[in-house]
Amino acid sequence: MPVDKNAYLLIKKELNEQATLVAVSKNKPVEAIQELYNLGHRDFGENYVQELLEKQKQLPGDISWHFIGHLQSNKVKFIASFIHLIQSVDSLKLLKEINKQGEKNQRIISVLLQVHIAQEETKFGFDKEELKQTLQADIDHLQNIHISGLMGMASFTKNEQQVKEEFQELKKIFDQFSTIKASNLHLQTLSMGMSSDYKIAIGEGSNMVRIGSLLFGQRD
Ligand SMILES: *Cc1c(COP(=O)(O)O)cnc(C)c1O
Repeated sequence: MPVDKNAYLLIKKELNEQATLVAVSKNKPVEAIQELYNLGHRDFGENYVQELLEKQKQLPGDISWHFIGHLQSNKVKFIASFIHLIQSVDSLKLLKEINKQGEKNQRIISVLLQVHIAQEETKFGFDKEELKQTLQADIDHLQNIHISGLMGMASFTKNEQQVKEEFQELKKIFDQFSTIKASNLHLQTLSMGMSSDYKIAIGEGSNMVRIGSLLFGQRD
């Protein structure tokens, strides 16, 4: 399945440099990633550690890899040396482990906190209260992480009004907590929007979208 170059160029144009495009390449072969890379694209998102590791070693070193799937604490060590942004942090425990692995690798690892905005129970993430507690927790000493924003996924529904309201909710939370600043905390990235709803997300203030199937075709 080749990359849809027209879709890529169209999306880039629509985003108009107001939002970063993360091309979500899970379940897609390295050839497809290379094809998009050859068009100048550098930000790719993966959901599974093993799959990411296999791809990372076969592809150019200047790719910015985003981790967007559910991440188990015991797997952070495998990606800590190179990961560009972990978008799916959903517990203080995970945050601490990322910090530990950052320290071991002598780097600061940027992360987004995932916020649960959808109605489905299956989606991971903090609710607003947990997010607040985490940001107010004793995290100042975690100097090998940088919390640079929030990520969220809207409900899987055709109801655009609902999707819009969920993105609005996340934007509100983002604005509220962006005022908190510390040496390792400054919320600037708001990652919301996928193939089916990125236009709505952009309208509601997203500055990072994660798009897979529109670029690479439907996944099996
Ligand atoms: C798979 C995935 C995407 C991309 O989904 P598409 O509908 O293919 O654009 C975006 N974000 C996350 C967290 C994902 O797991």
